Amino acid sequence: MSSRSILTAMFRCTICGECCRGDQAVWLNSLDMSRLADYVDRNGLRSPALADCPSPEDFLVKQRIVIVESGQNGAMRPRLRFRPGPAGPSCPFLVNDLDEKGRLWGKCSLHDTRAKPLVCRLAPLARTVDLTDGSEVWMEVPPVAGCPGWKAGEEPPPEGRAIPDPNLEVGMRADLDGEIDYFRRLTVV
Ligand code: SF4
Ligand code: SF4
Repeated sequence: MSSRSILTAMFRCTICGECCRGDQAVWLNSLDMSRLADYVDRNGLRSPALADCPSPEDFLVKQRIVIVESGQNGAMRPRLRFRPGPAGPSCPFLVNDLDEKGRLWGKCSLHDTRAKPLVCRLAPLARTVDLTDGSEVWMEVPPVAGCPGWKAGEEPPPEGRAIPDPNLEVGMRADLDGEIDYFRRLTVV
């Protein structure tokens, strides 16, 4: 995972795909879900058996692309459902292959599309939000322990390292604000 427009100086994703496999949990918001459903439809990936399923969320769950589980603070949230792959469970949108030296790499098939989930577009950055006033604290967080995208010796601690507000790519602010609205709706359910 990487966001090329907001990379920190110490980070360059090597496309190893490690953060898209294993026991990673990729939580989604409502905008992620609708964009993902649109991507699946536009690319003819919707199961014919679900052709008449009216709700994007419903068909993503029924097609086993997404699972709804209890997430942070106990709220029920959708996340990507990982599938068995050549290197263990992996994101359904991860393309695994071997490079010229026979090493496994993984490329996100949603990269450079609007369907790439917000959390994946932000990585290796993350934020915590105070829902009372919408204030944010930004952090650099290793997407996975030992992420090779960090320069040697520069990897932040697993819990993250606080950083100043990053420069965001055009359109990202609206998506972040939309996610705050989504979090607020979650808390009142
Ligand atoms: S683990 Fe790090 S280097 Fe590998 S794909 Fe994820 S962000 Fe990129
Ligand atoms: S959507 Fe892409 S970046 Fe996110 S976990 Fe899946 S393959 Fe990785």
